[in-house]
Amino acid sequence: MDKLDKDKLVIAGYKYHAPSGCTFIIAHAPGKVRFNKAGVKKPEYIKDGYIVAWVAPEGRQIRKYNAFDSYHYAHAHFMQFKDNDPPPKLPYIRDFQQQKVYDWENKNIKGSGARLSKRKAEAFVKTISEEFNLQAPGLNFRQDSSDEYCYFKTEKHEIGGHAQFLNMGFLVHECAHMVDTYAGNVNVTHGPSFVKNLIDLADKYIKGNEKEKLLKSAKEAGLLGLPEEIHYVEPPPNPLVTAPKPRQP
Ligand SMILES: [Zn+2]
Repeated sequence: MDKLDKDKLVIAGYKYHAPSGCTFIIAHAPGKVRFNKAGVKKPEYIKDGYIVAWVAPEGRQIRKYNAFDSYHYAHAHFMQFKDNDPPPKLPYIRDFQQQKVYDWENKNIKGSGARLSKRKAEAFVKTISEEFNLQAPGLNFRQDSSDEYCYFKTEKHEIGGHAQFLNMGFLVHECAHMVDTYAGNVNVTHGPSFVKNLIDLADKYIKGNEKEKLLKSAKEAGLLGLPEEIHYVEPPPNPLVTAPKPRQP
């Protein structure tokens, strides 16, 4: 699909999605815009069209968009989808406090470091999964793994990493990702909802951790809030003036 340069668009309205930092926009595209008609394979081009699209925080180029030849339909589309989340794929996902979460975890979550046998680890993730009515993820921890971190892979429903990470602390961390994913928080990794899951799980499943204490320190570390407020500019229901404003000298 052809790319659109965000700077060349005249934006009529937008909704900011705080967890991901993405913006859902409705805009006039003064140039030629590729337009895929439903059921027609060959793309057509419209000039002076309107687009509705998700824009990633740092993205100037828009790759995926819906194009309309009338503002009326673009507006209806925008209003229908403005409360949705962005697609759960890069570049619409962000991880704005990853290192801060790791540091806080190292300092505050207690008793998580002893290495577990495979059997104990399986029983541990099974117990956690059952609480959320989820199938237990497969475990893939290997001595010859080159992974420097642990991971949870949604598609495979698997937790894995190097065998040295097979302990309650890492398992609880990855289970918190699993719970977060299935709760629908897919546009931010290590975000506030993840931290809350992690606290709940550490409190319940690893001795020596207290929920209230963990919540207090996480709050103090700034891990329970999003970095920005939610902004919304309602697009006007009537067509825009189509000519872009002249640039300031
Ligand atoms: Zn993580």
